[in-house]
Amino acid sequence: MATQRIAIVGGGPGGLMLARLLQRQGKYPVVLERDRHAEERPQGGSLDMHGETGQYAMEQAGLREAFLAAARPEDQGDRLYNAEGELLFDRNEPTDDRPEIDRSVLRRILLNSLVPGTVRWGHRITRIAPEKDGFVVGGDGWSEQFDVVIGADGAWSCVRPLLSDAVPLYEGVTLVELGFDTTRHPRVSRLTGNGKMLAVGDNRALITQRNGDGHIRGYAGVRLAESSAKEWASWSGESVRQALQNVFAEWAPELRDVIETGEFIGVRPLYALPVGHSWKSQNGLTLLGDAAHLMSPFSGEGVNLALADAVELAEALTSTGDWSSVSRYERSMCARATVAAEGAAQGLKSVFSSAGVEHVLEHYRARIHD
Ligand SMILES: Cc1cc2nc3c(=O)[nH]c(=O)nc-3n(C[C@H](O)[C@H](O)[C@H](O)COP(=O)(O)OP(=O)(O)OC[C@H]3O[C@@H](n4cnc5c(N)ncnc54)[C@H](O)[C@@H]3O)c2cc1C
Repeated sequence: MATQRIAIVGGGPGGLMLARLLQRQGKYPVVLERDRHAEERPQGGSLDMHGETGQYAMEQAGLREAFLAAARPEDQGDRLYNAEGELLFDRNEPTDDRPEIDRSVLRRILLNSLVPGTVRWGHRITRIAPEKDGFVVGGDGWSEQFDVVIGADGAWSCVRPLLSDAVPLYEGVTLVELGFDTTRHPRVSRLTGNGKMLAVGDNRALITQRNGDGHIRGYAGVRLAESSAKEWASWSGESVRQALQNVFAEWAPELRDVIETGEFIGVRPLYALPVGHSWKSQNGLTLLGDAAHLMSPFSGEGVNLALADAVELAEALTSTGDWSSVSRYERSMCARATVAAEGAAQGLKSVFSSAGVEHVLEHYRARIHD
């Protein structure tokens, strides 16, 4: 495709991977990112990278060695507890092919792989308007013309409304994100094991997940009305902690420890786009990652899909054909995302139910036999 000026809106994993792949093919997009610098906000916890999507993308980007040097195959463990603190499932096979990597480390690998100056930090996009030969993209006090605009700007994409009327809907569950380090929180470290632990009770759950550099990330998940979730998000960390102590009052003390000792990071209400979200293809404009298929994290696929999207979209944008190659990418991406989104919706429903931990346990056991 003889496209020269490509704007990628959003410098998350999907947008950065796309920029890297395009640069390897001799195209030089700009990445417009609202954060003022790479460390502006916490990047979230550890990710397991799947062979056929996330790891495949790293390989296509020429970043396999960098990934393997930073990945943690030893942290693939899974534990499941009930609310009484009984360990129902415990498995750690470092030979499974889903090594973990911290989000911040992945972002650094991708950023370091780009031609200097590719990412324009502090560029929050507020306007995108079709023009005769492309689009005018603008923010606070500036604008610039591009031939192609890619929305890689996550859940609340400003590119998506140009293609689709769909809006993310609240999933009924809110996670409170907590941070720990293993030296100051040895009990949480023991509970977590080598990888991730999930504790499930009546419509509530606790998750802790081992990260690199002696850190653990935790999430306390509760069913909440959207209005209450917004209220919680406006509270201080201590007020949120008190609310969680009430919600988890009946749980075993070693599990309550997670809520009582974790450093408060933030309130994360979960939103998702309708499963199967798609749009009528439009020349010069497309989406990838969460902007196209936001789903709850209960499939563990979000970043993996964003990276796989980037591989297919880079191929389409560097092919010799016309925009129909991008339309084909959109169809293939939507089909792949639909399967994952169904899994994420099902996963969320089964963890946050009044049916108890039993069917989550069945799911864990079934995965061993897959
Ligand atoms: C609690 C939680 C846990 C998760 N755990 C996992 C997991 O274990 N495994 C997994 O695969 N996925 C997980 N996910 C999902 C994963 O985080 C997302 O799917 C993934 O980050 C999507 O990547 P992306 O590049 O599409 O978007 P994002 O990572 O959201 O990046 C979008 C970028 O666009 C920028 N941006 C937004 N608006 C604008 C604008 N107007 N102008 C300029 N820039 C803008 C943002 O600053 C951001 O840098 C989790 C999500 C949550 C909420």
